[in-house]
Amino acid sequence: MKNAVLSELFDQMADIMEILGEDRFRINTYRRVGRIIADVPTDIETLLASGDLAKTPGIGKSSLAKIEEFVKTGTITAHKQLLTKIPPTLLELLTIPGVGPKGVKTIYEKLDVKTIAELKKAIKSGSLAQLPGFGDKKAAGIAKGIEFLEKSTGRIRLDQAVEAADIVTGFLKKLPGIGKIQTAGSLRRRAETIGDVDILVAAKNGKKIIDAFTKAAFIQEVLAAGATKGSAIIRTESAPVHVDVRVVPKKSFGAAAQYFTGSKQHNVRLREIAVKAKLKLNEYGLFKADKRIAGATEEEIYKKLGMDFIDPLLREDRGEIEAAKIHTLPKLIDFKDIKGDLHVHTNASDGNTDISEMARAARDMGYKYICITDHSKSSAIANGLSTKQLANQIKQIRKLNEKIKGITIFAGTEMDILADGSVDFDNKLLADLDFVIASIHSGLASSREKVTTRTLKAMDNPYVNCIAHPTGRLLGQREPMDIDMAAVIEHAAQTHTALEVNANPWRLDIKDVHCKMAIEAKVALVIGTDSHSTAGFSLMGFGVATAARGWATKADVLNTSPLAKIKSWVKAKRP
Ligand SMILES: [Zn+2]
Ligand SMILES: [Zn+2]
Repeated sequence: MKNAVLSELFDQMADIMEILGEDRFRINTYRRVGRIIADVPTDIETLLASGDLAKTPGIGKSSLAKIEEFVKTGTITAHKQLLTKIPPTLLELLTIPGVGPKGVKTIYEKLDVKTIAELKKAIKSGSLAQLPGFGDKKAAGIAKGIEFLEKSTGRIRLDQAVEAADIVTGFLKKLPGIGKIQTAGSLRRRAETIGDVDILVAAKNGKKIIDAFTKAAFIQEVLAAGATKGSAIIRTESAPVHVDVRVVPKKSFGAAAQYFTGSKQHNVRLREIAVKAKLKLNEYGLFKADKRIAGATEEEIYKKLGMDFIDPLLREDRGEIEAAKIHTLPKLIDFKDIKGDLHVHTNASDGNTDISEMARAARDMGYKYICITDHSKSSAIANGLSTKQLANQIKQIRKLNEKIKGITIFAGTEMDILADGSVDFDNKLLADLDFVIASIHSGLASSREKVTTRTLKAMDNPYVNCIAHPTGRLLGQREPMDIDMAAVIEHAAQTHTALEVNANPWRLDIKDVHCKMAIEAKVALVIGTDSHSTAGFSLMGFGVATAARGWATKADVLNTSPLAKIKSWVKAKRP
């Protein structure tokens, strides 16, 4: 699929035009087209050939011409022309968290700063802080952003890791003489970001398999190729990814899976337990003197160490070993427990398709309900709904519910929490909705006190049922707000408000440890995909894994409940 590359080109054109100070309307159009292309599940070439692209709302004639040009030639002339208008290093500045095109424009025009190194100097000398609209606080934030950027290089998101693992396992499966295949490491544990992708293969002839792997079409660069291990950078749609393939014998496959899955802290504890029992645990097996007493499966290793099997999602040394010994591990939530998605956008705001298509796609996944939660008026960039538009949407949803069978569509909103903690719609309109989520989309860099009070106050509203993406982080791109999560969780419990586990791999917000805190405080979790297209529904698994890493069971997550229970749950908070 060329969609990722093409979407990037549109985004970059919008960035450059913004740096150049061009027409806002055209900039927004390009951004929207970029997003639509990134979100459609179908290959852009297929979509173009079928004529469906021309019919897609948001794709105008001139955008369509650019897409056609890209499909034919691989480039867009307008993009190339724009690139000649700015120093190319300015685009690097855009990768700094907290620096947008407007900031780059000012920095470049006023200080002639073109590179990250020059920007660092301008921060040090104090000249950045003196720019209009900057100041000491903002300059310090940008310095932090640069630090974050320099630290975070090399780590990839879960979806990128899964994509790479799928490519490689798909290839390995077809080779002769292959037994079990298993991903390991932080990917198997569904950690929030991944360093490199580890894949284990049970087979006899390691050399042959490593040879085939390192010669595969997806290889960008081979880092090492031995008799049992191959290490390479592979190409994917979204990023180059470091993948290690290890070939191990069948009899020690479980031991290798356990060892390479980690985490390090979890494994240290397991080895200590083994030593105390006068045993030895390593990647080849569990040994009593020289005799292997377990190794083919992970289950038998945990059993011989005197504990229940520990799900990879829990292997972080956060109490799971103690619980496994006394048989009190939770029965973790599973994807099949999910009955619906309560965070869904449509083309009424910034999504790319309509309510009925989203509802039908959700029904095909086996869901019993979805809640349409388009943005509210303060999110102008996201084309938020006015009071009147939302009132109309509610009517539209009531009608659709009579037409579409097999799924219930809830009318909802993702309403902006304003700077003073008030919300975008009045209670009269909110009372007509089935489920209301509120979230912060601006002023994320404000003080801890400000962002915390703002969130607490929104929860006091009797119609707000859930706070979406409570920390506002974007992995690898934007730090979370400096929000007091302990206070947020406490207040959520007091006000009967749920907290979202946003399943988008950019967000995973709230994160695992906060999920655990929330569950312990008896706060309900809602796992939502924040889908802007039907393809977005496929992200649910990342949210489920994140909640499970926080020890969530089915009972801890609201959207595992049947419809009637959600209704009574919402009612319980209302006057
Ligand atoms: Zn949002
Ligand atoms: Zn949203």
